[in-house]
Amino acid sequence: MEERLKSIRFIAITIGGFAAALSIFFAAAQYRRRRKNHHKCSPKSCYLQADQTKPQHAFKRVLADNSYSPFKHLKLDASHHDNASNSHPYQAEIFELVENPRLEFSFIDGIVDSEMSEEYTWVETVSQLKELLDVLIKERVFAVDTEQHSLRSFLGFTALIQISTRKEDYLVDTIALHDSMGVLRPVFAEPSICKVFHGADNDVLWLQRDFHIYIVNLFDTAKACDLLSKPQKSLAYLLETYCGVTTNKLLQREDWRQRPLSKEMVQYARIDAHYLLYIANCLITELKQQGTEISCPDDKFDFVLEASRRSNMTCLQLYAKEVETFPGESAASSLTSRHLNGQGAVSSVYFKTEFQDLVMRLCAWRDLMARVHDESLRYVLSDQAIVALADRPPMTLAEICRTITQADLNVDLSFNSLLPSPSSVVCSHLDDVHTLLQDNISNLNDIFPMILQKCLGSCGTCPLSILNYALLVNCNLKVSLVPKQNMVKSSKQVARKTSRELFVQKFSCKTPVYHNCKIFANDGRLLCYCDRRKLEWYLHRELAKLVDDNPPAIMLLFEPKGRPEDEDNDFYIQSKKNICVCCGEGNHYLRYRIIPSCYRIHFPEHLKSHRSHDIVLLCVDCHEVAHAAAEKYKKQIAAEFGIPLFVSKVVDSKEIQVISGSSESATNDEEVGVPPLQLRTAAMALLRHGPRMPSKRHEELMQIVMRYYGGREITGADLEAALLVGMSPHERRRLKKKKGISFKHSAGSILPNVQNNVNSMETSSIVDASEVGILNSSDSTKAEACNGQQEFRKADDDVGDSTIGADSGVDEVNYTFKDSVKSDTHGASDRKGDCIGNSDDNYESRGPSNGTVELNHKKYDGTAQSKHNSKLSLLGHGPHGKQVVNHLLKEYGEDGVCQFCQRWRQVFVEALQPRFLPAGWDVMHSLSAAVSAHQTDVDACIVLMKRCGLELVEDKTELNFWEEKEKKQKLRRESKSSVSFSYIFREYSFVWKTERP
Ligand code: AMP
Ligand code: MN
Ligand code: ZN
Repeated sequence: MEERLKSIRFIAITIGGFAAALSIFFAAAQYRRRRKNHHKCSPKSCYLQADQTKPQHAFKRVLADNSYSPFKHLKLDASHHDNASNSHPYQAEIFELVENPRLEFSFIDGIVDSEMSEEYTWVETVSQLKELLDVLIKERVFAVDTEQHSLRSFLGFTALIQISTRKEDYLVDTIALHDSMGVLRPVFAEPSICKVFHGADNDVLWLQRDFHIYIVNLFDTAKACDLLSKPQKSLAYLLETYCGVTTNKLLQREDWRQRPLSKEMVQYARIDAHYLLYIANCLITELKQQGTEISCPDDKFDFVLEASRRSNMTCLQLYAKEVETFPGESAASSLTSRHLNGQGAVSSVYFKTEFQDLVMRLCAWRDLMARVHDESLRYVLSDQAIVALADRPPMTLAEICRTITQADLNVDLSFNSLLPSPSSVVCSHLDDVHTLLQDNISNLNDIFPMILQKCLGSCGTCPLSILNYALLVNCNLKVSLVPKQNMVKSSKQVARKTSRELFVQKFSCKTPVYHNCKIFANDGRLLCYCDRRKLEWYLHRELAKLVDDNPPAIMLLFEPKGRPEDEDNDFYIQSKKNICVCCGEGNHYLRYRIIPSCYRIHFPEHLKSHRSHDIVLLCVDCHEVAHAAAEKYKKQIAAEFGIPLFVSKVVDSKEIQVISGSSESATNDEEVGVPPLQLRTAAMALLRHGPRMPSKRHEELMQIVMRYYGGREITGADLEAALLVGMSPHERRRLKKKKGISFKHSAGSILPNVQNNVNSMETSSIVDASEVGILNSSDSTKAEACNGQQEFRKADDDVGDSTIGADSGVDEVNYTFKDSVKSDTHGASDRKGDCIGNSDDNYESRGPSNGTVELNHKKYDGTAQSKHNSKLSLLGHGPHGKQVVNHLLKEYGEDGVCQFCQRWRQVFVEALQPRFLPAGWDVMHSLSAAVSAHQTDVDACIVLMKRCGLELVEDKTELNFWEEKEKKQKLRRESKSSVSFSYIFREYSFVWKTERP
């Protein structure tokens, strides 16, 4: 068991953020480069230096390159559609067709000639392509097929498009015309022209990938076959049945890059498109017949429309690059499990780990090399060669070659025998393979940036190309490689880009959030996915045994009462991908809380605990969009409920007494009190820049602070004290930590330190005097800019796929990198510093409350009066959130809260149109579903309690537990055991953290 746990930890470490390591490596790489420059730069040559045969090297425009960044879809101009996210540019048109199919299948009426003449048109110049466009635009329908090349390319590319009208067959040389294929975009997107394909699923994606060609109005003959329940739906079958034509489908696997195409290939290619119109014609006739035969007369089911509808649904697919949490990861895990399952002989855990590690290294290397050289994985190194190398790692270069050749020979296949073994990639980079196999000390994360640099860096061995160039640039390894024309970007753009990168680097999750470890019931049924910490928690307490370790899975040793899948609760048994749920970006992501924490932390305990549904991963860009939408919606909520977002006024309580005590100070109500944020900002500006400020501005700011103090003259100490007004204890502690001084009892007690600490104070704020000038109580954006940074750091500690969240209440993410640029340009010195400005982070004090400070200043104006407790920050949206939730609970009870959550999910979906939400995710997601997923943990705790001899009334529902807070606390006090039973309650995360080694 011990061994296995170790290996799990080991995996956790090795999987750890590739991207993060790349950036760390950046510094090291620079250092190395400097040293290296003293020597002569003599790169060993790569096979590609001499290989001029790969046609894709002539492509000037490549939409899908080999970098790890996500594919960008066509963006039509803003007036056409709102295309903020990476959505389908013709979504609206396709939806329209799905609902009202346009089947002006006029070709049905005409006689479609099934004969194929000798004549065809080869299209290879732009002018020929434009002529073709002119022809097609006049057609009502035409047939299409494509041929791909995928062996000597990483993502594959379209080598040929066959287009047939009723009169003519066209073969479009999409290699020669690669950069110009956009010419045909309009006909493919034209809803009034029907495009006939057979089995268009892949073609739809390929055309997007290579040419941003999107198909609108598709008739897929394979879909028609489905509806007609044909015995087969292959094109070969249809060709034989309807046209009496036999084809040699082996030609499909020919090298479609060759020019000229052989006679057979031309023939094959033409056949694939030529007969489609005729076949479609026949199938439509049958669909119509079937419609009249099967449907009852009054409820006529239109099979033709249904075929068209299903066809057009496939057009809604969007091409996306495959996403992995680590390069080559999926290949590595399938190879490992296949190999280890097949070989019962492998027993030693040590060996297993070593083998797994080598497979992982080789798969990652293969992935990187395939991208660098634009080759398929298979071409670089076969699966069987990887297994052979990992199984008995050869020591010398010659042995490596022999092992690979041998492995490839052992596997039959005429197809494979055509490939060089070892491949040219392996031959040119043999020493890297050698290093990978021998070096078992270095971290993978260190090796790969080095290899990348060696291949594509300034003295790189391998040619840079349009396909691999972004691989290097996006990894932050090299700035000087950016071509000159890109360098003339405005400094603002550069600042924004740099800031974004910095931001991503600092605040994105450094390791996968979802570990997708499985928890099985003792009968082998999957209960849920969880993270490693939870998995180890179960193992450590002998509540479960490890049944698999890659990916890890445990089986409970007790009978759980709850079975999520019994309760129509798919969401929690989905494995979740570590990608942005909106655009699919997998290189970096942040947690995003769909329900802002200023509300959620005020929810009743039991509604708060199940939160994995409402925390999703988003990339920085999507995060920004989501955050902006949420802020906007908060304003709407504020207006709707009549509850302002910020506490509108605070007044020093002592001063108030003074004021009300003296009758002659006829204080106008307007003059008393200021919004806490405004107070803080003004005080901060005065402390930092007071002496250098224009006197007018100085006076304005002084007035603000004076209003807080009831109009009296103020001192430097008052300014210092004003900085603390409205802060939650947590915020104060943070400030204290930052300044290294203590605020023991009240704001007043720091007075003696004022002079000493003014300087350190300066660096602790990013609020600049120039900003204060435009900052008023309703303008929160500036100060908010600093807030999220804290949150991100915090969020990284959170448990990812735990169904009971480590709900620290610190989960509002209020940050956009745009704002950070802003603050940078204002000369903020310490972006990571404590930004205690305006925030939503109503930290809930969870630990022992020794540092808690009672606020002296607790008098608010009419609206915000009364019950803000002292733990709540007045600087953020916390008081607003509290009032809103209280209102909801009072007026509508828990249903009100649930509906409120649904509104937020709706806002999120509308703003982002996320495409990668886990299956089962639902705007209407209800509480009852969440509770049952939580049940396994509750069950586990009950087992633990019993073990310690503690009584627990088992048949109580979880909800009853919550109400028994007192009992729970007593339980904790009484139990001398290290196991804290409050695990099942909200303190989960606290206990969790304290229990971890
Ligand atoms: P088709 O739709 O039959 O014209 O196939 C289009 C392209 O898909 C071909 O050019 C091949 O690149 C690829 N393809 C389809 N099926 C296979 C297969 N079984 N093996 C390899 N490549 C295939
Ligand atoms: Mn074909
Ligand atoms: Zn190379």
